[in-house]
Amino acid sequence: MADEVVSRNFIEQIIDKDLEEGKYEKIITRFPPEPNGYLHIGHAKSILLNYGLAVKYGGQFNLRFDDTNPTKEKEEFVQSIVEDVKWLGADFRNEILFASNYFDKMYEAAIKLIKKGKAYVCDLSADEIREYRGTLKEPGKNSPYRDRSVEENLKLFEEMKDGVYADGEKVLRAKIDMSSPNINMRDPIIYRIARMTHHNTGDKWCIYPMYDFAHPIEDAIEGVTHSICTLEFEDHRPLYDWVVTELEYPHPPKQIEFAKLYLTNVVTGKRYIKKLVDDGIVDGWDDPRLVTLSALRRRGYTPEAIRRFMELSGVSKANSSSDNAMLEYCVREDLKPKADRVMGVIDPVKVVIDNYPEDMTEEFEIENNPDNPDAGTRKVSFSRELYVERDDFMEEPPKKYFRLFPGNEVRLKGAYFVKCVGFDKDDNGNVTTVHVTYDPETRSGSGFEGRKVKGTIHWVDARTAVNAEVRLYENIVDEEKGKLNDDGSLNLNPNSLTVLSDAKLEACLMGAKAGDTFQFIRDGYFCVDSKDSSDEKLVFNRVVGLKSSYKPQ
Ligand code: ATP
Ligand code: MG
Repeated sequence: MADEVVSRNFIEQIIDKDLEEGKYEKIITRFPPEPNGYLHIGHAKSILLNYGLAVKYGGQFNLRFDDTNPTKEKEEFVQSIVEDVKWLGADFRNEILFASNYFDKMYEAAIKLIKKGKAYVCDLSADEIREYRGTLKEPGKNSPYRDRSVEENLKLFEEMKDGVYADGEKVLRAKIDMSSPNINMRDPIIYRIARMTHHNTGDKWCIYPMYDFAHPIEDAIEGVTHSICTLEFEDHRPLYDWVVTELEYPHPPKQIEFAKLYLTNVVTGKRYIKKLVDDGIVDGWDDPRLVTLSALRRRGYTPEAIRRFMELSGVSKANSSSDNAMLEYCVREDLKPKADRVMGVIDPVKVVIDNYPEDMTEEFEIENNPDNPDAGTRKVSFSRELYVERDDFMEEPPKKYFRLFPGNEVRLKGAYFVKCVGFDKDDNGNVTTVHVTYDPETRSGSGFEGRKVKGTIHWVDARTAVNAEVRLYENIVDEEKGKLNDDGSLNLNPNSLTVLSDAKLEACLMGAKAGDTFQFIRDGYFCVDSKDSSDEKLVFNRVVGLKSSYKPQ
């Protein structure tokens, strides 16, 4: 895939200009997750965008936890986020930054604003503050506490910090403009009282800064130059600028917004994913049907495929949806040269070669990967009893069915031609065994040219077959039928998971380890599950099928 993305995205254009004008010397970007859930494919966009810019401009990329709201944050999420960012290959020098480490500096910043007459302690209740705020059409009203003296504000704010007041009794507000057309500028709250134990600072603080105040300070402290966030923060930018200007940072960071990544047929909202997990509809945050990064990793997606997908989907200012089929295309392309091709029969039916000697076995040499000459070859065993896919046999075939049916001859991949001479059924009418005869003349590699057959099917030697469970996935929601039901719940696809517990795989898969990926020829790419697979019971996830509905431009 040599098609380099040559046109510079709008963020690069801004950075180029800033560098030209000498605004910054070194570009510093950051990814600022809130540790309140697992990362998903949308976050990967933000990570790779920020990291990519740092690399491109020889700058620095920071991983900083935005942990200013202790209610929802957990250590478990910090661990998983660190792992995911590493997995994607975004290098943060193993330096994990926490916004909560800057609480002292944020407190000092608040004092600075108070001293400048730019912040005040307000005693209005939450409801009153809302009432005073006004609406989109009407300006707000000044708080009666707005004109407190600097001394009084300093004293009250210190008392807020020292735990003199109850939660919610007072807040610190920026003094900006209650009649601003932008509601975010109508004296926003910048500190609140909340007695909560913080995962990092414990009970040291009973006041916590609000996001819109904390975030620009975090960026400025780290020397971030371009603070890249998603579009919903566009209306908050004037407040971001106000904070960094009033605090007089010498090289104030600049906020730039881009459109979130949306994917068709998948659930990206943290809220929805959490609900699927909490309701037990999926097997945890890493259920391979989800698009959390841990789920994609478990399913067998590669960081390279995700990076490629982000390149193809681009960076934009306008909301749009990317095609899930494009992500699948990217992983297929990435795995093509990497994954050895093996024979795996996921829904087996037995085949007996009636004219093949009972105690005979042979070995065929098969290429490991025609797309990668370095992958070499392997020996595959063959004997009288084999397995083939159940749907590679039909008692009464439709037109253009070239596989096994009574009287038809097919090629067993890499071995012999066999002709179907009969079949057995059980009492329920299910086919239990397909009988064939083979023609020794047609041995693969013998140069046989006597006749041609139209179908080639894969097979596994029953004597050496490895048992496995195979899990097939479909989209968890079907967008064409509507992602949401009328009541707002997710419209789930009942076929999102199919478990085939009796798969028969080629002997070389014995001992395959978590994360190992193979192509099962004619079907798709399969990855050994990292949670449920063991030496006793192999479990494979289908990463993606071979057939694509996506057409690269
Ligand atoms: P929450 O609703 O809890 O805020 P969030 O998905 O915004 O969820 P954060 O941890 O705040 O989670 O996000 C970290 C960063 O990832 C933010 O800069 C955010 O803008 C970005 N981000 C989140 N979702 C997407 C998405 N779908 N596409 C691109 N970037 C995203
Ligand atoms: Mg967020």
